[in-house]
Formats: sequence, C-alpha cells, structure tokens
Amino acid sequence: MTTSAKYDYLIVGAGLFSAVFAHQASLQNKRVLVIDKRDHRGGNIYCENVEGINVHKYGAHIFHTSNKEVWDYVNQFVDFNHYVNSPVANYRDKLYNLPFNMNTFYQLWGVKTPAEAKAKIEEVRAPYKDLEPSNLEEQALFLGGKDLYEKLIKGYTEKQWGRPATQIPSFIIKRLPFRFTFDNNYFNDLYQGIPIGGYNKLIDGLFGDTEILTGLNYFDEKEKYDAMADKVLYTGKIDEFFDCQFGKLEYRSLHFETEVLDTDNFQGNAVVNYTDKDVPFTRILEHKHFEFGTSDKTVITREYPHEFSKDNEPYYPLNDKVNEALLSQYQELAQSAQYREKYIFGGRLADYKYYDMDDTIEAALKLTSRELS
Ligand code: UDP
Repeated sequence: MTTSAKYDYLIVGAGLFSAVFAHQASLQNKRVLVIDKRDHRGGNIYCENVEGINVHKYGAHIFHTSNKEVWDYVNQFVDFNHYVNSPVANYRDKLYNLPFNMNTFYQLWGVKTPAEAKAKIEEVRAPYKDLEPSNLEEQALFLGGKDLYEKLIKGYTEKQWGRPATQIPSFIIKRLPFRFTFDNNYFNDLYQGIPIGGYNKLIDGLFGDTEILTGLNYFDEKEKYDAMADKVLYTGKIDEFFDCQFGKLEYRSLHFETEVLDTDNFQGNAVVNYTDKDVPFTRILEHKHFEFGTSDKTVITREYPHEFSKDNEPYYPLNDKVNEALLSQYQELAQSAQYREKYIFGGRLADYKYYDMDDTIEAALKLTSRELS
C-alpha cells in the first residue's frame, strides 16, 4: 500500500516487541514512528538507575531461552552476564531452594538421594496419583503431594492470582521444573543471563535511530496518529483497541515498593519468594545481585500482587476459558476486512499471552518476516 503518509509504520507502544519490529523495519529502510504513553521506552523491561544499580522497575526480568536464533539476535546488541536465576523460598522463616529439586526435597523431608526422594514423592502423591488435573491445585498435588503444595505453592499462587488455586489453569505450574539433581537453576533453558549494561542498552540497540515519542496516548488522538502512517502496529491491550466492546480481558496486576538500604547485602540473593499467604508480598528482589553489584548500598523491591484496574498495569493475563473466548472475539474482529489492511497486532498485551522475553522476540521476528517480506 502506498499513500502520502509520512511513515510506513506507526508503532503504538515502545516495548520489546516494538523494538524488534522497529529494528527489522529499519533494515529494510522503512520509515517508522513509535509512540508510547509512558515517559520512557522499553516497556516492562525498562530499568531505572538508582545508586548505580539497575532497578527492574516493572518486576524481575531474567533473560532465558533455548532458541538459538533469539539468543544470537539479542547478542548482536548486548553481551550477557552469567547470572543464573536460583530463587530461594521463605516459608514461615524456613528457607527452601527453588525450583523443586534435590535441595528442596532434602529441606522438606531429609531425603538425601534421588532414589529416596522418588520414593518419598511416590508416597506423598499416592492419594492424588489418579487425578486428571484440571486446575493448578490438582496439578500441584499430582506432582508433589500435599506438603510441598502447602508450603511452597498454595500461598504464593493464591496471593499471586487473587483466587483459589482450584480456579487457576494448571499450565501455570507446569512452568516450574521438578528435578532429581541438586540444581537450583530456575530455568531449563540453554542460555540465560542479564544484559551487561542493563536492559535499556538492549532496547536502545534495537531501536537505533528510530523516531520515538514518549508521553503520548494513542487513544487521545487516534485518528491523527493513524493518518501519519500507512500501517499501524498496535502492541497495547487488544480489548482497549476495540473499546472493550465485548467486555474487558482480565489481568492480575502488581504493586511495587522499592527502598534504598544502607547496607551492601540485604538478602544474599536476587529473588526471595515468600510463600506463606500471611505475608502480603510474593517476593523481594534485591536488584544488585542480578549484576553481581558491589556497591555499599542496595535497592530492594517488595512485590505485592494487586487487582487490575485502569489505574495500574496489566501484568499477567488470566488466560482461563472465559477470557480466551473473549480474546477470540477480538481476534476475529482484528482479522476482519475493516481492520486487517491497516492494523497489525502483536506483543504480550495485543496477543493476551504470558510471554517471556524470548517468546516476545520470537513472535516479533515471526511477524516481521511475514509483514516485511
Ligand atoms: N509459584 C509457586 N511458588 C513459588 C514460585 C512460583 O507456587 O515460589 C507458582 C505460582 O503459581 C506462579 C507460577 O508458579 O504463578 C509461575 O511462577 P514464575 O516464577 O514462573 O512466575 P513469574 O516470574 O512470571 O511471575
């Protein structure tokens, strides 16, 4: 399509999906304008420098992938450090290693060998082994029995999602590895790390000289922005694009409380989860440990799960049957003749998916190879 518009693409949102698209578009000399309602670029991977420490302003982001193409792609822009995520769980003042591995089984039951651990797990899951798990609670009981579920999963999960674990889809817990080695690496992926120099460096590298305007809400002057480009890549919430005409997609939000402390090391680990339901936050991040920081001070963030409303950020899509059905209605509309020529949709908010960063990049590369070929 050729029109007199100044740009080939307007991208609504300046997060990771947008940045990958913008980079690929720049390789083909496309004219791109990006706008974002926040006053900074980077979306949720944006970091703020506090006391020389990169603070993950929108929650912990740990890059991990098994996709070599994605790994090589990001390594064009930044090198990665050797950070390996090994969160510790605090339940009623006792500490447990995560993900569920031989260290955890030893801490829970005193078992010392894989054979002992397997025998113990067989015993504790016996009452549930015939379940065909249809929700997160059943899935967790089926995998590891009652003790592990109640100490390390139930409280955290119900705080995190704001509903009983029986009403949460089981796939969420399938993200967590379960292994019979003394291996505290939270992820099974081949590649992992934090960008040296921080995530902002990755975002800056991707955007290059792309024109970006921050602090502008697309919906304030949608017609004006639309007229500026032949096509619009919209990376915001898909329901909002369509005025929530079929209803609102549900999300879970977070509230962060960040503090600078006059100590060099508060908790000895980047991530400590609090799995008891009576502790109101789910985890404490100590940002310097993502980058092996050595300064005299430290910055910590307590992460409180929160109802999603228009006043806070949409972090976790709920992805249950009701919301998936609603999503299909919006996706159908997005594909209709009225919209598909002008608008493309992508990213975790437009796709309503629980994307990790590598999924976002993979999805963006897929879209660009279709769109820009
Ligand atoms: N989870 C849990 N206990 C923990 C950590 C995680 O039960 O200590 C469960 C919880 O249901 C959570 C899911 O595992 O929603 C996925 O956790 P993950 O750490 O992958 O979530 P994210 O880092 O994306 O918030």
